[in-house]
Amino acid sequence: MTDKFDVAIIGGGVVGCAIARALSRFQLDVVVLERDVDVARGTSGKNSGVAHTGINVPTGSLKAKLNVHGAAMFESLCRELDVPYKQVGKLIVALDESQVPDLESMQARGLANGVPVLDIIDADEIKRLEPNITGYAAVHAPTAAITCPYSLTIALAESAAENGVEVMLESPVTAISGEPGDFTLTTPKGAINAALIINSAGLASGEVARMAGVERWRIFPCRGEYVILDKSVGDMITRMVYPVPPKGGAGLGIHITPTVDGNILLGPSTDYIEDPEDVDTTVDVRKQLLKEASEFLPTINPRDVITAYSGVRPKLTSASEGGFGDFVIEEVPERPGIMHLVGIESPGLTAAPAIAEMVAGWVTDKLSPAVRPDFKEGAHTAKRFREQSREVQTSLVDNDPDYGRVICRCELVTRREILSAIENRLGARSINSIKYRSRSMMGRCQGGFCGPRIVDLLIEEGVPFDELNLKGDGSWMFFDTSKGLREGHDSRTGEAVIER
Ligand SMILES: Cc1cc2nc3c(=O)[nH]c(=O)nc-3n(C[C@H](O)[C@H](O)[C@H](O)COP(=O)(O)OP(=O)(O)OC[C@H]3O[C@@H](n4cnc5c(N)ncnc54)[C@H](O)[C@@H]3O)c2cc1C
Repeated sequence: MTDKFDVAIIGGGVVGCAIARALSRFQLDVVVLERDVDVARGTSGKNSGVAHTGINVPTGSLKAKLNVHGAAMFESLCRELDVPYKQVGKLIVALDESQVPDLESMQARGLANGVPVLDIIDADEIKRLEPNITGYAAVHAPTAAITCPYSLTIALAESAAENGVEVMLESPVTAISGEPGDFTLTTPKGAINAALIINSAGLASGEVARMAGVERWRIFPCRGEYVILDKSVGDMITRMVYPVPPKGGAGLGIHITPTVDGNILLGPSTDYIEDPEDVDTTVDVRKQLLKEASEFLPTINPRDVITAYSGVRPKLTSASEGGFGDFVIEEVPERPGIMHLVGIESPGLTAAPAIAEMVAGWVTDKLSPAVRPDFKEGAHTAKRFREQSREVQTSLVDNDPDYGRVICRCELVTRREILSAIENRLGARSINSIKYRSRSMMGRCQGGFCGPRIVDLLIEEGVPFDELNLKGDGSWMFFDTSKGLREGHDSRTGEAVIER
């Protein structure tokens, strides 16, 4: 590995990884520095997974431009990388007549932003499209789509790595010095030199900017909690169902979203918090989510909740200010050579391909690299067995007996898929890295059956049992008490820690 790069990208979220892949089309030495044990562990792995059309963003904003352009790029990107994408459509539902003017202004804004088709439909048409949904009228956005946000982020990173990008995990950047053409980034794994820097650190982007002496931005973390409903009730809706967004609210309101895997999400809530790392879920919010979603979908039963999660929005406006904050994508004159991406909240997932194109343009303008002639477009992972036809499944098993051994029964994940996840291009080995690559441990039993088998496979593949961890240092699966204390480091701060 070289320690002198053309470009250093700080942050392995969907935006950093999309930029890395866009840059891997050129003959450039690029490194992604991610502080966590894997990519997609921040906001990019914990959102609604919606490729938004661009109805909700103010006309003329950078968000609107990148949202609509990103949405147009999304399907082909997912196809190239073999990532799930389903254009299920969306209803934004008014509960009574008083909300109809809001529907009309959303329709007008969407059309002004360039969203392809947007109709307002009445209660009968709502019932025809979604028999379980109750509403007075709705905006129907048929081009709205869903994806799997962590699969996309992982696939972007692995494709970038396949095309020569160095992805360094557990590598928090703790200091930045130097000038354009010769920056030094300090990490616990040593100093990294780069000609240009891209600050794509999500919730920490303000802090990373400050490392480079740029004091302009303060991030206000705003948590959104979700609950996930079991697949057995996944057919209650086929489209996304959103409320009319609360006026001046920090989000789009609590919506009901089908997932590409057949579950249903309820959420997210909007709570400003102090600690951007605080991804707790709470009983009170769970009750609120179930109550609000039931107004549209009365058949929801709390017993169908299988788990909960939360993601944190990197807002540029505080709870008291409220209002709209646009994306900031800027090289500031007082500190050139660093592109800062700040306030990349929703629709950042949708916009990621368009943001990547824009930032790659900034890099190529500065460095004029040649195009890489041998760029490999596709994905390099095992096929998802459960998504194949009977014929394809039969031929997969005939050619590779590891496709014939089911490890995760809830999600129908085979030994071949787990082995492929363990052999991933980034060298990520935590239990969660296997879970997010294969979808094992995500079903009704949440790993009760397959978890121990996956641990066995990791040991078979050479991971020492006392290094097995759920999500990095400090989350050890086993302790060899005969060895007493052990040394490690906090993967987020890089600080040394002693663990018992
Ligand atoms: C509740 C919720 C719902 C959402 N729903 C949608 C949706 O449906 N559709 C949509 O388009 N968008 C949605 N979004 C927005 C979307 O998730 C984000 O815009 C997007 O994930 C931002 O990606 P990112 O790469 O900028 O940030 P992140 O995913 O946060 O990545 C930043 C990375 O930087 C790393 N990092 C931080 N500091 C350092 C450092 N010093 N050194 C090295 N690495 C560092 C972090 O560990 C992290 O991995 C939602 C967001 C939330 C919170």
